[in-house]
Amino acid sequence: MSPPGKVWLVGAGPGDPGLLTLKGARALAQCDTLVYDYLASPATVALAAPDCERIYVGKQADRHTLPQDEITALIIRLAREGKRVVRLKGGDVFVFARGGEEARALREAGVPFEIVPGITSAIAAPAYAGIPVTHREHNTSFTIATGHEDPTKGYSSLDFAKLANRKATTIFLMAMGNLAGIVAKLKEHGLDGDTPVAIVHEGTKPTQEVLTATIDTVIDEVERTRICAPAIVVIGDVVNERAHIAWFDTQPLFGKRVLVTRPAHQADDFATRLWEAGAEPIVAPTIAIGPPDDVRAAEDAVARAGEYDWIVFTSRNGVDAFFDRLGEQRRDARALGGVRIAAIGPKTADALAAHGIRVDLIPPHFINEAVASELLARTSPGERILIYRAQEAREILPDTLREHGRAVDVVAAYATRTIDDPELRAAAERADIVTFTSSSTVAGFVHNVADANALLSGKLVAAIGPITAQTAREAGIRVDVVAEEFTVEGLLRALTETASV
Ligand code: SAH
Repeated sequence: MSPPGKVWLVGAGPGDPGLLTLKGARALAQCDTLVYDYLASPATVALAAPDCERIYVGKQADRHTLPQDEITALIIRLAREGKRVVRLKGGDVFVFARGGEEARALREAGVPFEIVPGITSAIAAPAYAGIPVTHREHNTSFTIATGHEDPTKGYSSLDFAKLANRKATTIFLMAMGNLAGIVAKLKEHGLDGDTPVAIVHEGTKPTQEVLTATIDTVIDEVERTRICAPAIVVIGDVVNERAHIAWFDTQPLFGKRVLVTRPAHQADDFATRLWEAGAEPIVAPTIAIGPPDDVRAAEDAVARAGEYDWIVFTSRNGVDAFFDRLGEQRRDARALGGVRIAAIGPKTADALAAHGIRVDLIPPHFINEAVASELLARTSPGERILIYRAQEAREILPDTLREHGRAVDVVAAYATRTIDDPELRAAAERADIVTFTSSSTVAGFVHNVADANALLSGKLVAAIGPITAQTAREAGIRVDVVAEEFTVEGLLRALTETASV
């Protein structure tokens, strides 16, 4: 018998993928089927297990949203088939999201369920606009209201007499269509014309827009700026705090679309940092990492690792490949015994530390030339050095060491292969900033975009270091920003500094 199905009603948060709860992420990672709509961001949907079935019930080009009763029937049917179903909703599941109806229907159908609350846009969108929903100086309560009902039609159940109070924050969702009627009603009930109003469009996202105005000016301002749904409308004196504590949309990289060309398994960390900076990562790997042409040599070097005086790792991929092979040989870090270890930079050293290896050498500059001079200072002629690295790499490190009499073995640990991606061009066209984090990402880019230089004109091009920059220039690509520290953090810092001026 198949295990009984279950439904998780999960709040996805307001848009920033970092605002999903840990419990929500766990539910997504283990589900068989994901049912989601248009408010769920693609980065959140991507957290679902890779083989999970994804069912979109939001707005489609030729069809409107699946009616609520059909969505409810769908999740009940899937659960009865034994599936673990995540029903993902924007913001919180119980704030204007019909989660209450779905939960009741599940109970009546005898389907087990869990509720995983989410961060509601009603509070988070103002927060990302620098507006606290309560503040000691301004208010002691706030109301979250739907603006879906047209108050001028006479059937609204909202108590406008109570809402017409600048000292008690009112937060409207779904109000853009009826804004004029809502403002008119509030004024009718005595709300001061100079009461501050903020409209936050696509709050918490790189596309966030914020309009601040007053009750008297807001309708004209909406007309002028064309700010539109989805948006939160905040009314009350708390809105004045934005002038003091705006933080998200004032970041230098806010709103920038950044193309990330590095391999998919290394893109996550960079993408997360970009989200945190208010930028939108566009992940479009131009290369992938795979086994080298000569797998035997890669295995043999690992088998004989203990015979070397030094082993040099020039990337995290090399470390991963080394320890994967060691594991396949049913051995562990003890195989390295007294061998001294060099890492080209802090990320490679971190990868080694994860295997319990404390490195003996990280050069001051994270390039091969620096590894060579530091190693020469610490070794004597005749010492045996293994360089476990990418199949396609520069010869400067082994050449320099050999010229000085060191016994060097160079072994390809992995190979970098160019990806054919017909979508890359369109992805690059959308970007404001294009990043290259190795020479091979440049090669992969040029492979897919023949007229790279023309496509990149008007965009900011950033390279992780001088070697990558040089490869780009040789491929005819103008480079605007070169990181001083050759890591993703260094690249982000350089971009932030460039964007700040
Ligand atoms: N359950 C959701 C609300 C769903 S109703 C929540 O808790 O956030 C849909 C309305 O939510 C939209 O019309 C808009 O008013 C608001 N909304 C959702 N996400 C938003 C965002 N990122 N920025 C601004 N408003 C948002």
